[in-house]
Amino acid sequence: MDEVQEKSLNFIEQIVEKNIEEGVNDGRIQTRFPPEPNGYLHIGHVKAICMDFGVAEKYNGICNLRFDDTNPVKEDVEYVDSITQDIHWLGFKWANIFYASDYFDKLYDLAIRFIKAGKAYVDEQTAEQIAEQKGTPTEPGKASPYRDRPVEENLRLFEAMQRGEIEEGKMVLRAKIDMANPNMHFRDPIMYRIITSHPHHRTGRKWNVYPMYDFAHGQSDYFEGVTHSICTLEFVVHRPLYDYFIDEMLKVSKPEEWGVPANSRPHQFEFNRLNITYTVMSKRKMLQLVKEGLVRGWDDPRMPTVCGLRRRGYTPSAIRSFIDKIGYTKVEGMIDLGLLEHTVREDLKETAPRVCAIFDPVRLVLNNYEGSETITAQNIDGIEALGTREMLFGKELWIERGDFMEDAPKDFFRLSPGGREVRLKNAYIIQATGCDKDADGNITTVYANVDLNSKSGTEGGNRKTKSTINWVECSSAVDAEARLYDRLFACEDPSAEEGDFRELLNPDSLKIVNCKVEGSLRNEMHAPVLKEGIAQENHYQFLKQGYFVVDPDTTADHLVFNRTASLKDNWKK
Ligand code: ATP
Ligand code: MG
Repeated sequence: MDEVQEKSLNFIEQIVEKNIEEGVNDGRIQTRFPPEPNGYLHIGHVKAICMDFGVAEKYNGICNLRFDDTNPVKEDVEYVDSITQDIHWLGFKWANIFYASDYFDKLYDLAIRFIKAGKAYVDEQTAEQIAEQKGTPTEPGKASPYRDRPVEENLRLFEAMQRGEIEEGKMVLRAKIDMANPNMHFRDPIMYRIITSHPHHRTGRKWNVYPMYDFAHGQSDYFEGVTHSICTLEFVVHRPLYDYFIDEMLKVSKPEEWGVPANSRPHQFEFNRLNITYTVMSKRKMLQLVKEGLVRGWDDPRMPTVCGLRRRGYTPSAIRSFIDKIGYTKVEGMIDLGLLEHTVREDLKETAPRVCAIFDPVRLVLNNYEGSETITAQNIDGIEALGTREMLFGKELWIERGDFMEDAPKDFFRLSPGGREVRLKNAYIIQATGCDKDADGNITTVYANVDLNSKSGTEGGNRKTKSTINWVECSSAVDAEARLYDRLFACEDPSAEEGDFRELLNPDSLKIVNCKVEGSLRNEMHAPVLKEGIAQENHYQFLKQGYFVVDPDTTADHLVFNRTASLKDNWKK
């Protein structure tokens, strides 16, 4: 488990402050968030987003959003759109939107220069043959038979690759570095491969060759003027290659040819990935769940995606506060899902209006009450600034079945015939007098007498009872569907288990319950309110039940809520 850090500078901020002091890159700070548009953002990405945008904001720099769109096979505009929307919803502002594909011409030009300088060659071997020759960390690799082909031939073949004259998979362009280097990434890494089967979502059919991550990423950072290229720990082993390609580029070209100031240079820094228990944090696995219908979509409220968390009722402030709590380190770890839930409870506790919802309703009839009245209730007890709402009170109310017992033990303090006094929340004190049952013995109606001088907010309202129960007036109650979610996976770390991760899904991760909610929630059966083009989620605490949010499946005659979190804090125990 990662330690929850004190609120001091994280290690990247310490590096940034030192770099500013030393005048590295003239003290300029520029970061980028570089998602590949091949899936929706998940909460792991938010950790990177908070770092990239956070550092820029804190040190008067800029952060650009750059789509790393170098593999047309898996990428799509659907993902570009969802990523921009999610970042916007989280409340971050990019300076510019860029695409790695903006640099395809420059990268191609650079590849040609590498070939001319004898630093790259076209390899005609299969992917398997190349892999076989890689060696191991302790054994050197074997040189390709094509490694020393003449520059002219390399140029001619690379150009033929780009013209679409070579079949996909038949040739690659490799950097000519060192087949014996202890860092395997230096053993003649692939710079370019052929992809003709899929058009690119931005450049269409213009390109038949596409740059690999290692060649594209650092150079894109360089072209843009990035100073701090922050990523996750799995890229530590790539860092020497990141630096190598920039060094070599500066040997075959001048900064001004790329429109970059002479002393500008990006450096890579790495922090630990976010992993959370009972879920998976990989776009590939999430895509599988979506495609196979194992969840309802990328925004299924059980998914750890940003849109899933949003639909579940997580707020941007709760998500950002969670990221703040876990901090950034150099060691991989696993964060307890309970901490995420704890954070959203803390956030909603102070803001979500309280309302009544009865999940397992039984009718309560008040023997000596006639007519109806409107009761004004505080949205949150004790927080007057959050206002009040009106509740209709009348002779027939829905209460929870579990709040009544016909033959109750001594320590049952809710409704039961025999003199116990119970307060109806925000209303009167009552005493049960009896009940009706159906042929099977199920209770159908509970009867009670009201003390008409005990209304909350009046002089008689101060009288204490051992318990308070929730109610919803029958004629004004609204039927609603409540979707109760549990962990998506049944085991703590599904990625660490052998076998098929899909078999580890929690079969009880969704339970649907019909409930009766108070009439004030009828308002929610309208189109959501938009703010800056973003639909605003309305959050509630259903008293004694948990935090809920209105689901977009809601229509003018069907109200749907998602449970964001239960009230109980499992984290503290
Ligand atoms: P996945 O493994 O889920 O497909 P990825 O790393 O391939 O994720 P990218 O779109 O390449 O996804 O990631 C964009 C940025 O987000 C990268 O800088 C990456 O380091 C960061 N990132 C991705 N996953 C996590 C995570 N779990 N925790 C922190 N940062 C992450
Ligand atoms: Mg990636």
